[in-house]
Amino acid sequence: MADTLSAAHTALEYIRNRMEKARRRFGAPPDHVELVAVSKTFTADAVEPFLMAGQRVFGENRVQEAKDKWPILRERYPDVDLHLIGPLQTNKVREAVALFDVIETVDREKLARMLAEEMQRVGKTIPCFVQVNIGGEEQKAGVSIGEAVDFVRSCRDQYGLDIVGLMCIPPDGQPAGPYFALLAELGRAAGVAQLSMGMSGDFETAIAMGATHVRVGSALFGRR
Ligand SMILES: *Cc1c(COP(=O)(O)O)cnc(C)c1O
Repeated sequence: MADTLSAAHTALEYIRNRMEKARRRFGAPPDHVELVAVSKTFTADAVEPFLMAGQRVFGENRVQEAKDKWPILRERYPDVDLHLIGPLQTNKVREAVALFDVIETVDREKLARMLAEEMQRVGKTIPCFVQVNIGGEEQKAGVSIGEAVDFVRSCRDQYGLDIVGLMCIPPDGQPAGPYFALLAELGRAAGVAQLSMGMSGDFETAIAMGATHVRVGSALFGRR
């Protein structure tokens, strides 16, 4: 345990230093960028050293996996902030609202409506991001670039969702910078303050383009 704890410390410090350098270069205020540690596929035992090392914000992409892993960890670390970063099926809305503190993947009307209904039912307001299909890829989730601003508006006005930002996953194998810049532009047009963009391979670029949340998995936990 001592070894894994010091490895977690080292990994967190290394990523945080790189984030901090990128933040300074971009000229953003301190604490502008949140590290979302993406713990998908890693067991509770593998995640715990990162909690012991002080990390509190985590991302999971599957509701069932989060449900198996996080309730126990949360008992010991009640101030954890858990983000859903993967696609959400409408039949999992109830579980997602019970489990997560932030939902980053709102991408269709029906899901927006069902999330709003469930939050109302349980008396809980969960901050949400709208996912944008920033590369216009057929196989990827997210609203289209052309729909993003209107979709944010209807989530807010029609359903009363607390939309705090936009989230994207750029296409593989291309420079991500232009996609991040486009998400930032859409965020301004939609009137949202937060941008969840950047992963292990490109989080510094994302910070330079205004990311407020970077989702880093393998650079922290190792290969999946
Ligand atoms: C897995 C995942 C990440 C983390 O990816 P890494 O390359 O391991 O940092 C970030 N965002 C989403 C949506 C993911 O599914």
